[in-house]
Amino acid sequence: MAAQETVDHKYVYDFSEGNKDLKELLGGKGANLAEMTNLGLPVPPGFTITTEACQAYLATGREPDGLAGQIEAHLESLERAMGKRLGDPQDPLLVSVRSGAKFSMPGMMETVLNVGLNDQSVEGLARQASGSAGQAASGGADRFAWDSYRRLIQMFGKTVCEVPGEEFEHALDEIKSARGTDNDLDLDADDLRGLVDAYKKIFLKHTGREFPQQPREQLDLAIRAVFESWNAERAVLYRRQERIPADLGTAVNVVTMVFGNLGPDSGTGVAFTRDPASGAQGIYGDYLANAQGEDVVAGIRNTVPLQELEQLDKSSYDELLGIMARLEEHYRDLCDIEFTIERGKLWMLQTRVGKRTAAAAFVIAGQLVDEGLIDLDEALHRVNGAQLAQLMFPRFQLDHEFAPVATGIGASPGAASGTVVFTSARAVELAAEGRSVILVRRETNPDDLNGMIAAKGILTSRGGKTSHAAVVARGMGKTCVSGADAIEVNVPAKRFTVAGQTVDEGDVVSIDGTTGKVYLGEVPVMPSEVVQYFEGSLDPEHIDNPLVRAVHRIMTHADGKRRLAVRTNADTGADAARARRFGAEGIGLCRTEHMFLGDRRELVERLILARAPGEREAALAALLPLQRADFEEIFREMDGLPVTVRLIDPPLHEFLPPLEQLAVNVAVAQERGEDVAKEEALLAAVRRMHEENPMLGLRGVRLGLVIPGLFAMQVRAIAEAAVSCTRGGGAAKPEIMVPLVGAVQELETVRAEAEKIIAEVVGDSGVEVLIGTMIEVPRAALTAGQIAEAAEFFSFGTNDLTQMGWGFSRDDVEGAFFWRYLELGIFGISPFESIDRDGVGRLIRIAAEEGRAARPGLKLGICGEHGGDPDSVHFFHEVGLDYVSCSPFRVPVARLEAGRAVVESGGSDSR
Ligand code: ADP
Ligand code: MG
Ligand code: MG
Repeated sequence: MAAQETVDHKYVYDFSEGNKDLKELLGGKGANLAEMTNLGLPVPPGFTITTEACQAYLATGREPDGLAGQIEAHLESLERAMGKRLGDPQDPLLVSVRSGAKFSMPGMMETVLNVGLNDQSVEGLARQASGSAGQAASGGADRFAWDSYRRLIQMFGKTVCEVPGEEFEHALDEIKSARGTDNDLDLDADDLRGLVDAYKKIFLKHTGREFPQQPREQLDLAIRAVFESWNAERAVLYRRQERIPADLGTAVNVVTMVFGNLGPDSGTGVAFTRDPASGAQGIYGDYLANAQGEDVVAGIRNTVPLQELEQLDKSSYDELLGIMARLEEHYRDLCDIEFTIERGKLWMLQTRVGKRTAAAAFVIAGQLVDEGLIDLDEALHRVNGAQLAQLMFPRFQLDHEFAPVATGIGASPGAASGTVVFTSARAVELAAEGRSVILVRRETNPDDLNGMIAAKGILTSRGGKTSHAAVVARGMGKTCVSGADAIEVNVPAKRFTVAGQTVDEGDVVSIDGTTGKVYLGEVPVMPSEVVQYFEGSLDPEHIDNPLVRAVHRIMTHADGKRRLAVRTNADTGADAARARRFGAEGIGLCRTEHMFLGDRRELVERLILARAPGEREAALAALLPLQRADFEEIFREMDGLPVTVRLIDPPLHEFLPPLEQLAVNVAVAQERGEDVAKEEALLAAVRRMHEENPMLGLRGVRLGLVIPGLFAMQVRAIAEAAVSCTRGGGAAKPEIMVPLVGAVQELETVRAEAEKIIAEVVGDSGVEVLIGTMIEVPRAALTAGQIAEAAEFFSFGTNDLTQMGWGFSRDDVEGAFFWRYLELGIFGISPFESIDRDGVGRLIRIAAEEGRAARPGLKLGICGEHGGDPDSVHFFHEVGLDYVSCSPFRVPVARLEAGRAVVESGGSDSR
C-alpha cells in the first residue's frame, strides 16, 4: 500500500498545472512560471519537478520511484507540443534545467542552458536557424549554434561536473585575444567551433570522460546536479545567514529553450516594475542584444537601459510594458522579471515579487493603496519594523566623491565615521580623549570587548551575521560591518590595505552597518527624515517627500489597529518628552538608579556606611527632596499618562568606587601619612559587600527588605511628587514597581509599608498610586497566581527573565559563546534580541494566565528591549499583554508591529 503510494506520488507538474500559491512544492520560480502560463502570458512550455522529489533524493541518495517515468511522460508531451524531439539531430528540442527553491537564494544554485545539444544536433540547430531566418546568412546561424553548444559544455561542466569555471573563461579569453577583441560577438562560427573543442578537452581532463552526447543523460545529470546544489556549501551558509530552513529542498524547472543569441533582433533582459531602491514608478531594467540570459548577470558585456529597447524593437517593448502592468495588477506588488526576445518574439522566463529597500517598501505600499490595488491592512503586511528601524538611523550623505572601497555584511545598522584603531586598548585610549574610533580587526574575540564598547563602529574582514563581532555589536546597538574580505588587516603593523590603498592607524574611515559598505575618509552623516517627522519637525500633510507621507499613513493605520499600548523606558524628563513625540503612551520603566549618582553619591555613601543611630535617616531625608524633584519633572512631562517607577534595583556596592581603586588610594594615602579613616571605612564596606554573583545577590526587593527606610523614602518621594503635580493643576498616574520579587511574601511586606505612606501623603488629593511588581525571576512567573493577590500590575522584565531562565549572564555569554550557539542552530537569534518563545515565553504565558485568573483585570506589560523587537511584539500581542515598553527610539517600531500583529492574526483581538 505504502509502496503503491510512492509509485503514484506526483513528482512532476506541467506549467499549466501549477499556480503561484504552490511555492512550497514547486519553488518560487516554478510556481510563478505556472502562474504566468495560466495568465496566458508567453512562457516557453515546460514542467517542474517538485521539492518533494528533491527531498526524497537528498534523503536516500537516489531518485524516488516513479520520478524517471513521470519525467519521460512530461518530456514526451513537451516534444509533441513543440513538434521536436530532445536532441534530435535534424531539429533538436533544447531545454534549460533551472533550480528554484521556495525562498529565492540568488546566485546560490545553478542553471544549465541548451541541454540537448551534441555533435550532431548542433548541426541540426544551425540548419534550422538559417532556415527559419529566411534571409539570415548561414554564417550567423552557424555562429549561433556553436555559441549555444559551447555554453552548454561550459555550464554543464561547471555545474554538473565541478570543472573549475575559470578554465573555460581562460580558453574564451585566449581565443578573444587571438582575434584581438574583447567582445565575444566578434568571434565567428569557426572560432566557436574551435572553442567547443577546447572546452571538450577541459571537460575530459577534469572529469576523465567525454562530454556526454546522450541528450537524456545530459538532462538526468543536470536535474540531479540541481538537487545536489541544495547542499552546496555556499547554499548551506546562505540559508543559515538568512534563516531559511535546511530541509525545504529545491524544485527543478525544465523549460523549452528560446534564443536571445540568434542575432541583433534577439536579446535578453531583466526589469523591475518600479524602482526597487526608491519605489518610484517608471521603467527600470537592462537589456542586452544577441545574448543568452546568464550574460546579463555575468556582466560580460555592457547592457543598455531597457528604454532603448523601444528603438530596437518597438512591438516587443510595448508588449513587455503591457505584461509588466498586468503582472503588477495581478500580484498587487512590485515584480521583477527576466525575459528573452527571439527574433522579435517576446518570451517571459521568470517573475517574482521583487526585493526592495526599506524606503521603497513603504513608498510602494503607499502607492499601491492609492492605486486601489491593496487596502491599508494589506499595506501593513508589506512593511515591517526592521525596515522602519533602518529608516530611523542617520545615513551617510553620499555623492560622487565617495565610492566604497569594500563591501562586507551589514551586521549591525547605523552610519559611523572615526579614526582607525587595531587594538582594544588603543580604542579605549582614544575614546577617553573624546575621539570617535572604528575598531578594525580580522575578527573580534572576547578580549576585544572593551574596545568594542569604546568604539563608534566595528569593522572586520572575516565572519558573517553571526560572527562574534556581529552578535556583540547588535547586542550593544553599535554599528558593525563584518566580513569585508577585500580588506587585508595587519594588526602588528597597525594598518590595513584595500583596493591597493593603505590605511594606517589614525586615518579616518566610515562604515555603513546597513549596507555593509566601507568608505575612506569621513563621509558626512545626515539625519533621517523619518525621525524628523516623528519629532514633529516635518508636517506629513504638507511635504512632498513620498517616504514621509507613506510612513505617516501606515503608522496612522497601525495606531488605529493595534490593541497593545506602547510605553517607553525613560529615566529623565528629556527622555520622556522625546518618547512622547515618538508616540509613547506612558512610561513602562523609570529606573531610579541614576538618581543616586553624580553629586548624590556622597549621600549614598553616607547611607551605606551609616553606623550611629540617625545617620541613615539623615542621609535618606537628604535624598528625599532630590528624588521628589526628579519625579515631578517626569510626571509633568507625561502629564496624566501612566508612569511606572521601579524602586531601586542594583546592588548598592555599584554606587561605591571599585575595590582595586580604593585599595590603591588607601595604600598611597597611608604611605604619605594622610588621614585615611574615611577611605578605610569605605574599603571595609566594599569588601564586606563584595558578591561573587552580583546579578543574583543583594539587589531589588531584597535591598528594600534589608535596608530600613530605603524603599519608604522612594515611595514617599513618588507620592509627594504626584500630589504636588496634581495640586499644580496637572495630573499624575504613578505605578510603583517592586523589582526582583520571587515570592508573594516579599511583595506583601513592601506593600504594607508603602500603603501606609501613600495613604498619609495622598490624603484627599485624589491621586491614585498603583503597586505592582516585575516578573523577572522564574519563581515569580511560576507562582504568579499567588503574587497577583498582592499586585495591581505585572511588568515582565524580559532581560532578567532571560538571564535567569537560561542561566546566562548576558555580559559574559554574548561575547564568549553565542556565536557558536548560533552556528550550531541552538537558537536562530540571540534570546536577548528576540524573545525565546518556547522557554522564556512560556514563563510569560503561564504568569499572564495565572495572574489574570487570580486577579481579573490585572494590568500586564513588559519592559526591557524585547518590547521594541518586532517578533517579540507579536508574541506579546498573542499572549494578551496590555502594553509593551521600550527605549524611545524603538517606540515607532513597536507601534507599527503592534498594528501588524492585529492584522496578521486575522484582525481580531487575540485576548
Ligand atoms: P537564476 O535563478 O540564477 O536567475 P535562472 O534559472 O533564472 O537562474 O536562469 C538564468 C537565466 O538563464 C534566465 O534569466 C534566462 O535569461 C536564461 N534562461 C533560463 N531558461 C531559459 C530558457 N528556457 N530559454 C532561454 N533562456 C533561459
Ligand atoms: Mg532568474
Ligand atoms: Mg531586572
